[in-house]
Amino acid sequence: MNAVLVVNSGSSSIKYQVIDERSGDRLAQGLVERIGERGAGRVVYRSAAGEAVTEQDIPDHSAGFAAIVEEFRAAGTPIDSLGIVAVGHRVVHGGSDFIAPTMIDDAVAQRILDLAELAPLHNPGHYAAIVAARAVFPDLPHVAVFDTAFHQTMPESAYTYALDRGLAAEHGIRRYGFHGISHQVVSRRAATHLDRPLESLRQIVLHLGNGASVCAIDGGRSVDTSMGLTPLEGLVMGTRSGNIDAGAILHLLRRGVSIDDVDRELNKRAGFLGMTGSNDFRDVRAAAAAGDEAATLAIDVYVHRARHYLGAYLAVLGGADTVVFTAGLGENGPDLRALICAGFEWCGLRLDQAKNEAPGSGARVISADDSEITVLVVPADEEAEIAQQSIALVASS
Ligand code: ADP
Repeated sequence: MNAVLVVNSGSSSIKYQVIDERSGDRLAQGLVERIGERGAGRVVYRSAAGEAVTEQDIPDHSAGFAAIVEEFRAAGTPIDSLGIVAVGHRVVHGGSDFIAPTMIDDAVAQRILDLAELAPLHNPGHYAAIVAARAVFPDLPHVAVFDTAFHQTMPESAYTYALDRGLAAEHGIRRYGFHGISHQVVSRRAATHLDRPLESLRQIVLHLGNGASVCAIDGGRSVDTSMGLTPLEGLVMGTRSGNIDAGAILHLLRRGVSIDDVDRELNKRAGFLGMTGSNDFRDVRAAAAAGDEAATLAIDVYVHRARHYLGAYLAVLGGADTVVFTAGLGENGPDLRALICAGFEWCGLRLDQAKNEAPGSGARVISADDSEITVLVVPADEEAEIAQQSIALVASS
């Protein structure tokens, strides 16, 4: 059996899954959270054998991995009995350096840390987890799979901000895009589901989760995406504003709001949360249905922004063969999907109301049979994709 330990780490958490590469089955999964909070650490382990939740002091990521290994041992399935052949690390920011999954050595790990300049909330945690995991599993290959890599095929015109060239170069300011693992796997699965070659398709993928982005994909290559230098740009999200006039930020700064507060307002207190008091679309939907005007407006703003991108990417791609919805709201929001797609009949996009509203969990078509653009819902399974990309790299090197 070939299994991959997929690690998704943050500054204070490690989420992991052990995935059987061939079947995609989860052999075990869990998380360690509140790393570095004195006496508050929490370790969760789940497998077919059962679930264990323990509270313990986890001072750093090394202690986190030690706790994970101990949970496997206590469950009677030591981690080295699972046939793990690689560790796949999800890394949010690969800058312009990493255009594909990359075998991690000391230099690659250091470069991931250096890129913390562009992703201060993410890359330091990735680095800490990589160092700790390499120490705990020194004999396994460790692979970094980047959220930015898929978008490195964007043309210069799509990734360049209209700034002074020297300033942009000095500070690494350009659009990178994120959610690349999801956009890549979802567009590939859509092609497989339709039994059409990926290379022949112009696709628009809407990843609508807590974080959200849209991607224009031409023949399997990302040519434009809504997130930019950071995951703040683009769509309205659970707690992020998405697009906002940079002048509004200057205005807040000039009025004495601190940089940290502006950061918090835009990244953690905006979006659905800022407009309605909840970041969860289920709450927003229920409030709107009960006549709450702020919730109704928030949905209107969300849909308006998403439709902007749908229209823009129809222009970028010269039309589209598929429009694909994925992630929490994309998979579970038939009402949102209908609102976003409404009025696009002029370009041959017609939803089938019954198909759109029918419950389902797998990849499925929700457009009418006579729709020129095929609309699909495709679940995102980013961890399985990280496992596959990690194994493929290990096998080829
Ligand atoms: P993340 O970006 O954190 O991975 P997900 O893709 O899991 O998030 O999306 C989470 C969001 O999806 C929730 O906050 C919620 O707004 C939305 N969501 C999840 N389930 C449903 C549902 N049944 N109906 C509507 N929205 C849902």
